[in-house]
Amino acid sequence: MRLESPESSVSRAAAILRDSRRLMAFTGAGISAESGVPTFRGAGGLWERMDPGLLEIGRFDADPGASWAAIRELFYAAAPDGGRASPNAAHRILARWEAEGLLSFLVTQNIDGLHSAAGSRRLAEFHGSIRELLCRRCGGRVQATSEALDAGLLDSLPPRCPSCGEALKPDFVFFGEGIPQAAYSAAMDAAEMADACLVIGSTGVVYPAAQIPILAKRAGAVVIEIDPGDTEFSVGASDIHIRLGASEALTRLDALIARPK
Ligand code: ZN
Repeated sequence: MRLESPESSVSRAAAILRDSRRLMAFTGAGISAESGVPTFRGAGGLWERMDPGLLEIGRFDADPGASWAAIRELFYAAAPDGGRASPNAAHRILARWEAEGLLSFLVTQNIDGLHSAAGSRRLAEFHGSIRELLCRRCGGRVQATSEALDAGLLDSLPPRCPSCGEALKPDFVFFGEGIPQAAYSAAMDAAEMADACLVIGSTGVVYPAAQIPILAKRAGAVVIEIDPGDTEFSVGASDIHIRLGASEALTRLDALIARPK
C-alpha cells in the first residue's frame, strides 16, 4: 500500500475543512497521551497495572472501597498520571475551532475531561468523565476538582454522598453499564449530519463508540483520520489519513485554514 506523505494529506484535509459546513470530531486516547494521560491499551497501558474486573459495575457495588483504591491511584493521583493533566495544543485548537464556528460537534471516548477543560462545550463525553462523582441513590453529583481533591475528597474510600451517605461512583462508564443516553443521542445526531469527520487518536476497537465515524461516513461525511499508526479505521473508513500526532497535525491544519477575522 502506498503511504501518502503528511504534507500531502494535511493539504488535502485542509481543503475539505475549509469547505465543510458541519464538521465533527471524534477523539480517543491518542489525543490525551500527548498530555501524559496513560492509555488503557498497549505497552505501559493501564490494563498492565490494573485488574479490569475492578471496573465492572457488579464488583464495584460489592466492594466499592477496593475498586476505589485502584481508581484513585490510576485516575486521580498527582500528575502526570491522570486526573490533573492539562489540555494540550490539540485540545485547545478543537475548542477554538468550535468558538470560531468551524467545528460543529465533538465526541470523545476519553474520560479525562480535558476537552471540557480546554473550553469545548458542544461535546459528548461518550464514556462519561472522571471529573464528576455520581450518587446513584439520590442523583447527587460532586465535582472532582483539583481543589476538592486537595481538600481530601478521596482521603477515605469510598467517598460518600454528602446528601444521603451512599458510596459515590466516578461518572464514567463501567463494564456492564450502558452509554449515557444524552451523550449517545447527541453523538448519533452529529454523525448523521456531519459532512466531514475528523477521527483523532482512536484505535477504533471499542464499541459502540467506534461505530460513530462509520455512521458519519455512511451518511456522507468525508473521514479524515489523524493517527501516527494504523487503526481499525485506516483501511476502509478513512478517506484521508494524516500520519502525525494530534497536536502536530491540528497545528498544521490550523495554519492552512484561512478564516475571516
Ligand atoms: Zn446521594
